[in-house]
Amino acid sequence: MQDISNEGAAARLTIDLRALCANYRTIARHVAPARAAAVVKADAYGLGAARVAPALAAEGCRDFFVAHLSEAAALRPLLPADARLFILNGLLPGGESACAALGAIPVLNGLEQVRAWVACGKALGRRLPAVLQVDSGMSRLGLAPEDIDTLLAEIDMARDLDLQLVMSHLACGDEPENGANPDQLARFEALTARLPPVPRSLANSGGCFLTPGFHFDLVRPGIALYGAAPHPGHPSPIQPVVRLEARIIQVRTIPAGQGVGYGLTYAPDKPARIATIGVGYADGWPRHLSNKGAAWFGDTRLPIAGRVSMDSMTLDVSALPDGTLHYGDVVELIGPHQPLEVVAADAGTIPYEILTSLGRRYARVWITE
Ligand SMILES: *Cc1c(COP(=O)(O)O)cnc(C)c1O
Repeated sequence: MQDISNEGAAARLTIDLRALCANYRTIARHVAPARAAAVVKADAYGLGAARVAPALAAEGCRDFFVAHLSEAAALRPLLPADARLFILNGLLPGGESACAALGAIPVLNGLEQVRAWVACGKALGRRLPAVLQVDSGMSRLGLAPEDIDTLLAEIDMARDLDLQLVMSHLACGDEPENGANPDQLARFEALTARLPPVPRSLANSGGCFLTPGFHFDLVRPGIALYGAAPHPGHPSPIQPVVRLEARIIQVRTIPAGQGVGYGLTYAPDKPARIATIGVGYADGWPRHLSNKGAAWFGDTRLPIAGRVSMDSMTLDVSALPDGTLHYGDVVELIGPHQPLEVVAADAGTIPYEILTSLGRRYARVWITE
């Protein structure tokens, strides 16, 4: 077992930046001649955008998507001058001049955002760069078909905006057989045919691995960069990126019938050995994994015994011979025995939520070479 030597840390999060960059190259090769952007919103899905985005820029990526203006502001100084930063949520009232000053490119999702951005450009005396999002069927963000009539009647697209991209988002890109995908594709084609002929973008990670018709000019992968399969349950060319390990704080033997943890919800009917590790829901380890999830020691699965606490949780380690597990030993929480997808499924959620919840108390180790 590997030693966690980070000054007595309870747990270590290892982020394999080489694998992350390899995933970017895999996607970029797969979608060529379309270009691959990188979605680095939510601090690069919890892994650390300040490390991830520059590493992807070194791979040749020049298009980065975040969700908020503040995320774009944090990344701007870390990226090459020719890198574009797109803000997926677009603008909120009062944010226009800061966005323009930063040189970030808002994804304009509705007529109000378009009007505000055009007005800001007029006040500054220049055409501002923009992305237009159309709603091809997800009903979340983007101009509805009828909004496009209003837009074309009201805005001189060539004079009032520097339109760099038209985009939409797939609701079911992770399900290759879902009929909503071809429906959205057809609607996207029809809507964009009414707009100026600028580059187009539709695909998230799942969309990158649908047929090439979904790729258009620019793809926007997120989760696949970070190591989760773009089509869950299907073979994937994506490498895992994240590994999470924790150390044993204490091991005890309990008599038959004794309860474990808050609410005493785990009370085995024979004597058991219980080990405690210093990871809990405050570290983003879902409380839904109480009496459900597991850790691994070598090839042995160690079920979570009782409720996950804020800063710790208890494992039933009775499957290991007495004396196997010691104070300071390391167990795997995410890794080759228990991939991210399995943790998410056990918790009734998706890898996105596990990653973006990862806590700040882990010793973070970056594999860079
Ligand atoms: C988050 C997001 C993406 C990336 O999605 P993944 O499924 O993580 O690849 C792409 N486009 C938009 C609009 C998004 O919100």
